[in-house]
Amino acid sequence: MSDVEARELVYEGKAKKLFATGDPDLLLQYFKDDATAFNAKKRGTIIEKGVRNNAISEVFFRLLEREGVPTHFVRRLDDRHMLVKRLEIVPVEMVVRNVIAGSLAKRLGIEEGKALPEPIVEFYYKSDALDDPMINEWHVRVLGMATQAEIDRMVELTLKVNAVLRPFVAERGIVLVDMKLEFGRHHGTIILGDEICPDTCRFWDSSSGEKLDKDRFRRDLGRVEEAYEEIARRVGA
Ligand code: UDP
Repeated sequence: MSDVEARELVYEGKAKKLFATGDPDLLLQYFKDDATAFNAKKRGTIIEKGVRNNAISEVFFRLLEREGVPTHFVRRLDDRHMLVKRLEIVPVEMVVRNVIAGSLAKRLGIEEGKALPEPIVEFYYKSDALDDPMINEWHVRVLGMATQAEIDRMVELTLKVNAVLRPFVAERGIVLVDMKLEFGRHHGTIILGDEICPDTCRFWDSSSGEKLDKDRFRRDLGRVEEAYEEIARRVGA
């Protein structure tokens, strides 16, 4: 793995592991093939998912950095490892939506597929034990998860990421329906972390509407690996 040595495991999530490196400022992000849905009530493996998500995330992080979005991406080391900046993660999942789908469709009883006149930003509290409940800015600020200035910055960056990625994928025949982003502090500054891939975004083929993301796994639609491969191919990963 080139010049970077993986040391102790500092965190293991459902889809990734994070290892310390010789540099206290940097971590190694390892992408697994494990797939979970419905808060890990459904489990499985998506063959080569880790390889695809690492490569797809690299493409998106490089593009975002070029467009002025600060991210934790340093470089991709090999098929399954990415070198990233160490973050103090903000325990909030930021979701941005362009088209109604998933939990929004369910909660409001609206059919999936309705385009929104402008993006909607939502906050969820990162807690497996509680099933990631939806919260609002007040909870985030008053309960001390982030300051108002940090919330404002996360919203600004979430909308910027959406504004950059949406046309990029549109040019490649993909609708960015919605996505989940995570942010953290690096030396006190809010930057984008985690990964951006078919696990964390909904991607629909622009002409057929075919789902090219983790919903194929969640909803047992088949051809799961093919969807990840297709997204990787179209974005040039
Ligand atoms: N999402 C995610 N992790 C989560 C929940 C949601 O990456 O724990 C992503 C999901 O893939 C989709 C977007 O966030 O692109 C919005 O998800 P939604 O709230 O509709 O929930 P879901 O239907 O996935 O339960």
